[in-house]
Amino acid sequence: MDETCQHLSYREEGDGKSFDTARAFCTVTESFVQPMRADVCNARYDLDPAADCEFYVDPESEAAEDEDADRGGDGAE
Ligand code: SF4
Repeated sequence: MDETCQHLSYREEGDGKSFDTARAFCTVTESFVQPMRADVCNARYDLDPAADCEFYVDPESEAAEDEDADRGGDGAE
């Protein structure tokens, strides 16, 4: 994969501050991305968010987990 991480977004405010330039924000950790991490988030230098980031969550498996949670009461009736 050589695409920007799907969990990466840009925000102009957060942590009670606002910024002139939007900063990289990770929606998994709910925190701003450190500059060194941003290379992974943006898949620069052959880095792969899915393989090189310990915070990365596969969007498909994340959705499947949500479904499982929704079905938590299955079979009880
Ligand atoms: S690469 Fe990791 S830190 Fe960066 S946006 Fe994706 S999950 Fe978050």
